[in-house]
Amino acid sequence: SRVLDARGEADEQQVEAALRPKRLADFPGQTRVRDQLDLVLQAAKGRGAAPDHILLSGPPGLGKTTLAMIVAAELERPIRVTSGPAIQHAGDLAAVLSSLDEGEVLFLDEIHRMARAAEEMLYLAMEDFRVDVIVGKGAGATAIPLELPPFTVVGATTRSGLLPAPLRDRFGFTGHLDFYAPEDLALILARSAGLLKVDADAAAIEVIAGRSRGTPRIANRLLRRVRDWAQVHGSGRVDVAATQAALELFDVDELGLDRLDRAVLDALCRRYAGGPVGIATLAVAVGEESDTVETVAEPYLVRQGFIIRTPRGRAASPLAWSHLGLTAPAGTGI
Ligand code: ADP
Repeated sequence: SRVLDARGEADEQQVEAALRPKRLADFPGQTRVRDQLDLVLQAAKGRGAAPDHILLSGPPGLGKTTLAMIVAAELERPIRVTSGPAIQHAGDLAAVLSSLDEGEVLFLDEIHRMARAAEEMLYLAMEDFRVDVIVGKGAGATAIPLELPPFTVVGATTRSGLLPAPLRDRFGFTGHLDFYAPEDLALILARSAGLLKVDADAAAIEVIAGRSRGTPRIANRLLRRVRDWAQVHGSGRVDVAATQAALELFDVDELGLDRLDRAVLDALCRRYAGGPVGIATLAVAVGEESDTVETVAEPYLVRQGFIIRTPRGRAASPLAWSHLGLTAPAGTGI
């Protein structure tokens, strides 16, 4: 199993929860989004009102859930957590909405995967704080309007482009999370090491930070695997030697790319001569879902300049060819 896989160990959720910063001031990186959120929340608190609805978008593992929890903590309000895939019928959403308390934060993870019928109910509720509860069936069904107390939706999505415009428009504030700089990941790792009671050298933390695909979730996961390696094969201390051995064992290369990243680049270069090729075709070539390739692998590869998105599909950059130790064929478009 891949160390960087989105589906993690059984205890991962608990570990993640323990490692989440609780307040905005303890949240390293994403300075822009953090400052913007800080303003929105402080202003709302000052007015004694619920803030605008908040949409957080960006690749997995960058801190969307963490920020949602922080929003509730900063507002000193309870948070209700659910997700798009859990809302398959409008009734599922009606049940959640009608039980919200005043000022409560409703966190909707993967909001782009909510059922269509629920989307419409949600944006009306976000706008008017009202839902129509359908009573009865068929011709005798009637809609009973139900007033809701003001609340704040925090939506998280890896694919903000998939949200219908009317829903997207109901969010007064959208924060786009970007990959973290290695310095920020080093801060996060040092904090995590402290919380996990792992003895870690600054040099080892720097190496892990540079190989974590700009993603705190991956950084924390790698730290735990290096800790395991140090415990089983080393001195128990997370040092550079343990780090390098563990990274090798888990297939993380010098640039932090994992097996899926390299498989995508490999398919793009070797099988499709550098592209351009569509995402669905690439996904079949690496045996993954399109959505996984598009949300998990591609953003970082694009960001690091390995893949170029063109109107005709994805193309390999010269960097992709050289990273695989290949020579780009003469006459490729890019
Ligand atoms: P997302 O919801 O975007 O997938 P999460 O908020 O669940 O990401 O974050 C994944 C893990 O990374 C959590 O354990 C969280 O503590 C950690 N993390 C994310 N962002 C930060 C940050 N800025 N500082 C410290 N830890 C972070």
